[in-house]
Amino acid sequence: MFTPRSIKHCRACGGEVRYQTPPDDNRDRATCSACGTIHYENPLNVVGTLPFWEDRVLLCRRNIEPRRGLWTLPAGFMELGESTAEGALRETVEEAGAHVEMLGLFTLLNVTRVGQVHLFYRARLLDTDLAPGPETIEAQLFGEDEIPWDEIAFRTTRKTLELFFADRRSGSFGFHAADIT
Ligand SMILES: [Zn+2]
Repeated sequence: MFTPRSIKHCRACGGEVRYQTPPDDNRDRATCSACGTIHYENPLNVVGTLPFWEDRVLLCRRNIEPRRGLWTLPAGFMELGESTAEGALRETVEEAGAHVEMLGLFTLLNVTRVGQVHLFYRARLLDTDLAPGPETIEAQLFGEDEIPWDEIAFRTTRKTLELFFADRRSGSFGFHAADIT
């Protein structure tokens, strides 16, 4: 089970937090020893796209930690007030400056070890004009035999790319759910 125990101080009053199981609950929660506020911690959603142009896919070389200098699909933490598809599109514009048509949800990947769920949409590039933002060193299109497999930043990126090329060979794109352990 993922138990980060990362909260030290109460977000309501600044008091000291202790991890203890509240009455009628079944796991330890960050509980303020001063005001009693319980700070619930739940998995975060990471949303992104797999942009493609004919037989090539778009990857971004990260200009930020973690994994600076390695390649990833455009993705980031979902913000409050947006849908998963809206967040995925926003990240694609911010990180690559790409113009895309959003297609269907392609992968849902549970990364239980770090308390995250990663969602990737297929997205058709409308042109090849890219304008990477400050979080990206460069954005580039790769054919399957050009993918820098040894320099991929995240396992969810690798998994999504592998499934994309496998589906393309089979002639139809499905939806894939998997657990990244
Ligand atoms: Zn408090």
